[in-house]
Amino acid sequence: MNIILFGPPGAGKGTQAQFIVKKYNYFQLSTGNILREEVKLKTALGVEIEKLISNGKFVSDETVNILLKQSITNLKFRDRIIFDGYPRNIKQANNLESILAEFDQTIGHIIFLNVSKDIIEKRIMGRMTCDKCNMTLNEFFNKEEIELHPCGKEFLKRRKDDNFDVVVARYETYMETTKPILDFYSKNANFTEIDGASQIEQINNKINDVLNVKGVDFRTSSYIKG
Ligand code: ADP
Repeated sequence: MNIILFGPPGAGKGTQAQFIVKKYNYFQLSTGNILREEVKLKTALGVEIEKLISNGKFVSDETVNILLKQSITNLKFRDRIIFDGYPRNIKQANNLESILAEFDQTIGHIIFLNVSKDIIEKRIMGRMTCDKCNMTLNEFFNKEEIELHPCGKEFLKRRKDDNFDVVVARYETYMETTKPILDFYSKNANFTEIDGASQIEQINNKINDVLNVKGVDFRTSSYIKG
């Protein structure tokens, strides 16, 4: 059973995805990370992607689809993916459903983290992500954790696109193109909205409730260990 974590940039999707990954042995599929990985590899596609991302724009659906399909068809991830930051528009939502159906998989939960723009600005301006383990911390809120980070604090990097103008551009792009799919998903019986402005721990607990209350028994999962 796959999970979609949905919400504006900075809502805490990556932070919560990491929690689900550890607790339930899931795989986080952030299209942002897949794209940044391609940028790091400096392929021709990666160079194109870098230009768009650093201007706060989305890359084409075709590009995302190629990278996405590779992950969905990977048997190691089968039915245990958390989609973090995808889909971002109706076309991608339909596309995701059709790829999943083609490979006999489903979306078990759609979790929407709802947060206002002013909170998001503060969070994103302080965001640091570990190059090694992908953990997300915040320069302002997690000073101690940054000092004690197990991989070493030198691996904690700010994202190039996390500056004020780009944050505003990303939020506006989100409002225009992504928000309409709320209507699409909120009609779904597996849709849950959570107040993303609360503490990380409280959100963890709510997500836990959602995943368990709705009858998902992860302990009997027969999936391959990652
Ligand atoms: P997203 O993946 O939705 O873009 P992130 O998980 O990267 O968001 O979070 C953005 C920033 O906000 C990070 O610096 C993270 O440490 C911080 N953050 C995430 N969730 C919360 C929360 N509930 N309260 C305070 N800060 C948070």
